[in-house]
Amino acid sequence: MKVLVVNCGSSSLKYQLIDMEDESVLAKGLCERIGIDGKLKHESPGKPDYAVDAPMKDHTEAIRLVVEALLDTDHGVIKSMSEVNAVGHRVVHGGEFFSQSVIIDAEVKKAIEACCDLAPLHNPPNLIGINACEALMKDMPQVAVFDTAFHQTMPPKAYLYSIPYELYEKYKIRKYGFHGSSHKFVSDRAAKILGKPIESLKIITCHLGNGASVCAVDKGKSVDTSMGFTPLEGLTMGTRSGSLDPAIVSFLMGKEGLSVQDVESILNKKSGVLGLSGVSSDFRDIEAAKSEGNERAAIALDVFHYRVAKTAGEYAAAMNGVDAVAFTAGLGENSPKSRAAVCSYLKYMGLEVDDEKNACRGKEIVFSTGASKVKAIVIPTNEELVIARDTKELLG
Ligand code: ADP
Repeated sequence: MKVLVVNCGSSSLKYQLIDMEDESVLAKGLCERIGIDGKLKHESPGKPDYAVDAPMKDHTEAIRLVVEALLDTDHGVIKSMSEVNAVGHRVVHGGEFFSQSVIIDAEVKKAIEACCDLAPLHNPPNLIGINACEALMKDMPQVAVFDTAFHQTMPPKAYLYSIPYELYEKYKIRKYGFHGSSHKFVSDRAAKILGKPIESLKIITCHLGNGASVCAVDKGKSVDTSMGFTPLEGLTMGTRSGSLDPAIVSFLMGKEGLSVQDVESILNKKSGVLGLSGVSSDFRDIEAAKSEGNERAAIALDVFHYRVAKTAGEYAAAMNGVDAVAFTAGLGENSPKSRAAVCSYLKYMGLEVDDEKNACRGKEIVFSTGASKVKAIVIPTNEELVIARDTKELLG
């Protein structure tokens, strides 16, 4: 079985064609600047990379070019689209409608649309991608895999905000959590690496990329996570503020004469380690600036590490214990310094880092010492594979 995984953003589209026999990636690529001019980058193992500047007026046009690239005699990997059995779509917000992946039909599309209010930047392009695939690949089964679904197991004490309950009922204002496919993949993998059934484990997963979140996974189920109603809550991120006193919003509006949208833009795009350091949103740049003596870069990293560790501490309390802390995504997989800094706060729980083992990038490894009570693990995430696996499972 071959599954095409599609992840649509407002002006971009990422794709992977995965052969589910051995879960190998046959081809992957990225369409950028959709609606502006259009760029497609396509790669498949053993073949020359392929890049074209081609006008893509919309996502349907982008999908058409992806299909062409997959079928191309030089760069392609299939002879006919009939070799592809299904499309799996990443959908960011499933609200309270979806606690697992689903085969897409008219009802499902309506529910995804109903969640557009909750994720105005993400759900509309996700829907456009679904419609584009339906238009171009008639009768091809389509599956939606939601970033929020894994967190639907959180209990009310974790997902309710302390605001009038009627506002939850009326507007569904509650914590949803994001990065669900990643937290699921990493916690499942952690159990396999530890050689124990996931039902017996308490795992804290730290997805540390440009967007960052921590999740408490008790017996394989998400019981709390740091992103909330939107992906703005929680940790300090590349450009996002994470949690702050909500009174700051009206204070800033008053002092600077800003609109709500202006403040939202500051909190989403100009804050986080970028805002603190004044250097960059990219952790590599900030680590480099710190090593050159830039104090604000050092402070930005301190704030980031402290928040991750504090959240891990909260989740150890939430689960009344912890067996493993797993690190993933750009920074979690590639920055020994950041992992060491976060773990330095977690010694109290019996987590001891083996510095030699920690000195690695981008590969799966248990980097705690043999005697460490709590295990520390690096696990490269693979959200596309989760989408492809769910698609396969749903279609039998
Ligand atoms: P997202 O998917 O949210 O855009 P990623 O998971 O790709 O983010 O992570 C991107 C972040 O990971 C960037 O800030 C980048 O600096 C960081 N990163 C990647 N490689 C390294 C590295 N070798 N050292 C430190 N940080 C890294």
